[in-house]
Amino acid sequence: MRFFRKKKAMPDGVFVKCGGCGEMVYQKKVEERLQVCPECNYHFPIGAWDRVRYHTDEGTFEEMDKGLRSADPLEFVAEKAYVDQIASDLEKTGLNEAVLCGTCGVEGREVVFIAMDFAFRGGSMGCVVGEKVTRAAELSCRQGLPLVSVSCSGGARMQEGALSLMQMAKSCAALHRLHEKGIPYVSIMAHPTTGGVTASWSSLGDVIMAEPGALIGFAGPRVIEQTIKQKLPEGFQTAEFLLEHGFLDMIVERKDIKSTVAKLLDYLAPLSSG
Ligand SMILES: [Zn+2]
Repeated sequence: MRFFRKKKAMPDGVFVKCGGCGEMVYQKKVEERLQVCPECNYHFPIGAWDRVRYHTDEGTFEEMDKGLRSADPLEFVAEKAYVDQIASDLEKTGLNEAVLCGTCGVEGREVVFIAMDFAFRGGSMGCVVGEKVTRAAELSCRQGLPLVSVSCSGGARMQEGALSLMQMAKSCAALHRLHEKGIPYVSIMAHPTTGGVTASWSSLGDVIMAEPGALIGFAGPRVIEQTIKQKLPEGFQTAEFLLEHGFLDMIVERKDIKSTVAKLLDYLAPLSSG
């Protein structure tokens, strides 16, 4: 089993520049803190396998739907052909798509786990991401296992056009069946969670949490300002602003996500955890 993608989000070196405070910080110290800056608590962007490593029990993750690959229904070509972009992201991340799904333990509780990877096409949701998320929800439903997801996404996959948008309805329908059966779903929003992913499955958690400082929204602030012709408030679309306004249930530091999820699953499903 491989826990690291071929190319790590953080290049190897003694120091790394923090995206929060701009300081050069010891990479080892950052890694010890699950890729969080020891100076300012900035949460560095991490990949899907890092999520498995940090939020699930070691050695328990069993990947599902590893073989699903994007088709190219529109034969889309912009600066580069879509098929070539997919091929290069496959090589770069070692993932088959922008989402990794499987079953695993979270402090001994068996769950179905979904983790997105922004390094693959900006974590955008095309047919394969939608299908994998839907299948994960369906597995949860069939086996009565809680669902836990970590999202980070630039939105719908433009290169798959309207087919990408259909994934929103499909994934939500699967989650509705989960909800009807009373099976818990915990959604974790990482930086950034935007567009069609925010507007579908990642906002449907029974509990929705975010990492500190995460950008969460549908459209970007510039588009909104131009549309409503009003200045947006300070900190708009940050996790902290959204918590204050009731869109999120909690903000949880990366190091505390696993134990918080475990606790929540006990509250939500006391019978299924024993
Ligand atoms: Zn920092």
